[in-house]
Amino acid sequence: MTFDLEDTIAAIATAPGGGLRGIVRMSGPKSLEIAAALLSSDESFSGDKSTCVTGFRLPTCRRGTMRLPRDLESIPTTLYLWPTDSSYTRQPSAELHLPGSPPLLEAALEIVCQAGARLARPGEFTLRAFLAGRLDLTQAEAVLGVIDAQGRQQLDSALGQLAGGLARPLSALREQLLDLLAQLEAGLDFVDEDIEFITAAELNQQLAAAMEGVENIARQMQSRGEAGQVARIVLTGLPNVGKSSLLNALAGESAAIVSDVAGTTRDFVTRRATIGRRECLIIDTAGRTALSGENHIEAAAQSLASQQAADADLTLLCFDASQPLSAWEREQLSNLNNSATLLVWTKCDLTALRNDDHSAAAALCTSSRTGVGLDQLRQTIERQLESSISEPGIVAGTADRCRESLRLAAEALQRARANVATSDELVAAEIRIALDELGRVVGAVYTEDILDRVFTRFCIGK
Ligand code: GDP
Repeated sequence: MTFDLEDTIAAIATAPGGGLRGIVRMSGPKSLEIAAALLSSDESFSGDKSTCVTGFRLPTCRRGTMRLPRDLESIPTTLYLWPTDSSYTRQPSAELHLPGSPPLLEAALEIVCQAGARLARPGEFTLRAFLAGRLDLTQAEAVLGVIDAQGRQQLDSALGQLAGGLARPLSALREQLLDLLAQLEAGLDFVDEDIEFITAAELNQQLAAAMEGVENIARQMQSRGEAGQVARIVLTGLPNVGKSSLLNALAGESAAIVSDVAGTTRDFVTRRATIGRRECLIIDTAGRTALSGENHIEAAAQSLASQQAADADLTLLCFDASQPLSAWEREQLSNLNNSATLLVWTKCDLTALRNDDHSAAAALCTSSRTGVGLDQLRQTIERQLESSISEPGIVAGTADRCRESLRLAAEALQRARANVATSDELVAAEIRIALDELGRVVGAVYTEDILDRVFTRFCIGK
């Protein structure tokens, strides 16, 4: 991650794919010069068009056309300029708004870079906003939360955090602990003079309140962390065993094409579903992990499907209970020692399972048609994800980093309380540890490593 703020960065800031309007965003000293050189416009441009509305300085806007490279035509473009430090990054910034076609946007980005900007790295705009003091670390993470938000609740919580939802209680807590530390240290300075700045009972009570504060913040963080972890569940098995039907049954609506013809689901169908408390992405590989790969497109699809299975938190290996086992299925059964794979029998409404067919002990018998076994499958999925995903170290990320710091802060406060009756020095030392940990969370104490980890998770253009 570079912290060089002197060059001008540029990126497509709108989501991938087509849209009515696309945006190429720039930030850095040369933004205005580059943007003005690229846009031909009859409108006279002057900074005095910027408006002040309830304290927010709006950008200056100018309409014109931009000439794109190669055989692409001139296209209508609106330029927004933030010449002052009212921009997100507190640097001169510009946005080119044009029709949201991916090739047009890429061509526009290309000429912007030819004119002197360089491609932004993921999260670099937000990194600049952070380094300019526009956001603290938790707010920067909240930007990420807003981008990642999957539902109304997550969005509300990320927006709340962006508006200071976590930053404010955290800094209030730090202030409170700093006051407490000041009183303790004053007491230590006057230890021979028998002046008491804070009684043991007050100290104990304030430490208990601080612990409660840390726990509240940890709870808020926890709900965000849990919501943010989307588990990947991959359905594999031969074509026509009922994977698409199972996907629909688990996700609740009809999304995949269901057909009697083997191999109908041509592409991966992915659906989001909430299973227990867990947000899941269910991926139907359409039997490609089990296909022979006769031609090279099929082979490539098969290797993609295997990759999906390899990246999965959990694989549901689906066998049709109404059919005899194929050679491929027998082979899978004999290799089934992976805890991240669940064997699921489908179409159990058609037949009773025969004990000689399978290791019945571990079998989950389901029917997408009647709904039999689906609740049990959901519960097993939830349990399985719980044990595989909550293992420490598996899920890396900023929410984990914050949770760990909050845990260490709570532990330090606990030790401080245990020392109230014995030593003010030890209490002060533990409060300092708690402050350091809380400081880590708000970004008051940060390192390149932490910044790197936070900002590289952003998408480019944010
Ligand atoms: P996929 O190729 O593995 O995705 O299989 P599909 O979900 O497309 O299902 C293949 C066929 O099996 C369709 O005709 C479905 O209606 C049928 N099917 C799927 N699940 C069940 C089930 O639980 N019971 C019965 N009786 N038929 C099912």
